[in-house]
Amino acid sequence: MRVLVVEDEPRMAALLRRAFVEEGYAVDVADTGEDGYQHARIVGYDTIVLDVLLPGGSGFGVCTRLRRDGVWTPVLMLTARDAVADRVHGLDSGADDYLTKPFSLPELLARRPRPDPPRRRGAAHRADRR
Ligand code: CA
Repeated sequence: MRVLVVEDEPRMAALLRRAFVEEGYAVDVADTGEDGYQHARIVGYDTIVLDVLLPGGSGFGVCTRLRRDGVWTPVLMLTARDAVADRVHGLDSGADDYLTKPFSLPELLARRPRPDPPRRRGAAHRADRR
């Protein structure tokens, strides 16, 4: 499983990288919208975590361009903004889910888009832990 984290804040990027590595993902980090867009187009990721406020293009723009290019990798958008209009904009741009900063890592991991929902691996895993 491969995840792309598009986040310009180094501490947040490092936190996300560590969390996904611990979940068994291979992680790439891009720190601008353009870099994220290029990575996402070229590499076949299973999930993209996309910050909204980025240098070189907003997460909204990146997501819109990817969908226009036929890249349908599940996108979880991160933002410090919590306005309803921004959420609608995010979903309109093709994001699959939306998380407002500050968020808890367990919530992010629980809400990360899963490329293989029919297999329900997450559900079986949770049942094992009880
Ligand atoms: Ca940012």
